[in-house]
Amino acid sequence: MMQYVSTRGESERTTAAGAIKKGLAGDGGLFVPEEIPLLHEDMLTSLCGMTYPQRAAKILYMYLDGEYTEEELLADCEDAYSRKRFPGGPAPIAALGEKLRVLELWHGPTAAFKDMALQIMPKLLSRALVKTGESRTAYILVATSGDTGKAALEGYRDVDGVRITVFYPVDGVSRVQKLQMATQEGTNVSVHSVVGNFDDTQNGVKQIFADPAAAQVLQEKGYFFSSANSINWGRLVPQIVYYLSAYCDLVNDGSIRMGDEINVCVPTGNFGNILAAYFAKKMGLPIHHLVCASNKNHVLTDFFATGVYDRSRPFYTTTSPSMDILISSNLERLLYLTAGAEETVSLMRQLKENGSYRIDEKLRVRLNHRFTGMYCDEDRTAETIRTTYEKYKYLCDTHTAVGLYCAEKYMKEFDGNRVMLSVSTASPYKFAPAVYRDLTGKTFENELDAMQALEELTCVPVPAPLSGIAERRIRFDPEASIAREDMLKTVLAEMN
Ligand SMILES: *Cc1c(COP(=O)(O)O)cnc(C)c1O
Repeated sequence: MMQYVSTRGESERTTAAGAIKKGLAGDGGLFVPEEIPLLHEDMLTSLCGMTYPQRAAKILYMYLDGEYTEEELLADCEDAYSRKRFPGGPAPIAALGEKLRVLELWHGPTAAFKDMALQIMPKLLSRALVKTGESRTAYILVATSGDTGKAALEGYRDVDGVRITVFYPVDGVSRVQKLQMATQEGTNVSVHSVVGNFDDTQNGVKQIFADPAAAQVLQEKGYFFSSANSINWGRLVPQIVYYLSAYCDLVNDGSIRMGDEINVCVPTGNFGNILAAYFAKKMGLPIHHLVCASNKNHVLTDFFATGVYDRSRPFYTTTSPSMDILISSNLERLLYLTAGAEETVSLMRQLKENGSYRIDEKLRVRLNHRFTGMYCDEDRTAETIRTTYEKYKYLCDTHTAVGLYCAEKYMKEFDGNRVMLSVSTASPYKFAPAVYRDLTGKTFENELDAMQALEELTCVPVPAPLSGIAERRIRFDPEASIAREDMLKTVLAEMN
């Protein structure tokens, strides 16, 4: 049975169900599998003959074995990744020219890639509660930069044994994202906007998780805290699947031969998605190099270039808000995997106390063998949206554009021979005003008008989850923001 340990020390061991239930380890660290399971080439070949849900069940089983059965996982994956939930398929690939491929991860219920994990994770948690004999209700707290919140609300709504509260930064999410969350249905959900940026909101949630008095009150009321953020292993493990699946699809469509190496470029915020690609590589998937694409908040680009992670810098609100992050929580897992628990504890302490840390030069060089950080500023994001549409008739959103810019730059400067798989993380309609402005130079005050205009301009249909959003009933007023200090109070008040 696969065991999980904390990135801050190996004393706390738990099973997969335990890790998914708890979210964060007791010492403040993140759970990681004790060993990374290895693929054999035969296995990759056999995955190529399977559907996405079958591939997902096989891969999840490698990480969750002993507790979850393969049959359970297959049943859950068949439902989570059904055509009903993903009408365009879970992870289709678009070809841009000879070597560039785009992995579209936004065909789910909320039109952003978070659905890939959050459609399956509630099922894993539900089973984890049963498997661990839990009688309390899981209280899911989410800090979101926009997409996670909606995807978690959709995934967890009306799930037995679970309650969910989502906090988002009032100035850090788009109008459509706000509307999506404000109109959320379900009897076990609530949504709040918080004064400040995403890091403020995320820190607020982290503090609540770490507050022993709060945990005590919860216990008395029959609840316990759990997280749906990408620090939860249950979020990360389903993301490994689509890298293996995409590789199989590239083999099947003749873009590569089995065994050929590819490069992967991921538009990055919290470092979850790209870390999943790293896990796929560690499992033995032929990935040559990983490009970590950032926007104007390029703390990770600097980290990979200099070895210094420095969050004390201006925070910019950009047109790719889901990547406006200065503390990339999942980087801690990479540090653990490459430098060990002791070093991770020390680096995380420095980050907390000084707002920065420096890894040693040997480690930086080692990381650079696998990762290159690149970034794309606002002007280049706009230009990439325009040129990608002109050159390939391919419409992409702002986050995807950041990735595509870095992918093409990497191909030009370092490696034009291998196939580059660049990840597309949101539907262009989720960020329609920016996309429309970048294509035409015209601006819209109202996001919904922009959506319509973009549809008329490009004839690419608005995805079903986003159409008609303005007519839905507002349940959670986006204007009623709370202060960060009041987050815990708000949670406790809702627990009755
Ligand atoms: C969450 C998100 C990202 C960043 O993903 P991480 O796993 O946090 O690095 C990028 N683009 C979109 C659209 C997102 O929703």
